Amino acid sequence: MTKTGLLDKYLEAREDMVRLLKDRGIADERVLKAMLQVERHLFVPIPLRNHAYDDAALPIGEGQTISQPFTVAVMTEALHVNEYDKVLEIGTGSGYQTAILAAMGIRVFTIERISSLLKTARQILESLNVKFVSKTSDGTIGWKEFSPFDGIVVTAGAPEIPKTLIEQLKVGGKLVVPVGSLDFQQMKVVTKLNENNEFEVADKADFKFVPLIGREGWHENDG
Ligand code: SAM
Repeated sequence: MTKTGLLDKYLEAREDMVRLLKDRGIADERVLKAMLQVERHLFVPIPLRNHAYDDAALPIGEGQTISQPFTVAVMTEALHVNEYDKVLEIGTGSGYQTAILAAMGIRVFTIERISSLLKTARQILESLNVKFVSKTSDGTIGWKEFSPFDGIVVTAGAPEIPKTLIEQLKVGGKLVVPVGSLDFQQMKVVTKLNENNEFEVADKADFKFVPLIGREGWHENDG
């Protein structure tokens, strides 16, 4: 049975997806458990549901995508957060990453710049009783009111590390952000070292994201 009370015809596909994530090196059992639990097909447009458990990004409208499951797993694992921690997500998109974090018991604050996407994501998340706080805004400037956060995850590609987001992290907290050109980005795991906002950066693999557009991101007409 699913959260919605219906027979889960996608369970086998989701189990295969999680096996693939393990094979690709995702080791955090909490992340794997959440990805087995959250029904990704509910976050993709109905005509694409049969592809919901492919390890692929899929279009969700407005030129945006739901991230590839492997990417979501890598970013979630890299945050190194625990139950009850506070995480800020930049780029709500479909709401899938929000649901994964919430399934891990994390208090999620999420910002999306396209209001129609946030409206749809809210409807899906609320229908699944997911608890989260959200707003339509430019996430590159964070959400000061609720800061500091234990972790911040940016689900769109930035030209450089957004410094305001580091200011809104707790000391020891991690900012996970893909940084690079419009064509491809390298995943950066940024750890805040002290109250002076000094930080260290660990580089992960390359990915391809839609652009982060905003004051500390790309400009609307870049590219
Ligand atoms: N986390 C999403 C999911 O699980 O579906 C992935 C969404 S998609 C890869 C990235 C999203 O970032 C897009 O919906 C895009 O509109 C949004 N975005 C881009 N720049 C943004 C900004 N400055 N603030 C908030 N959202 C932004």
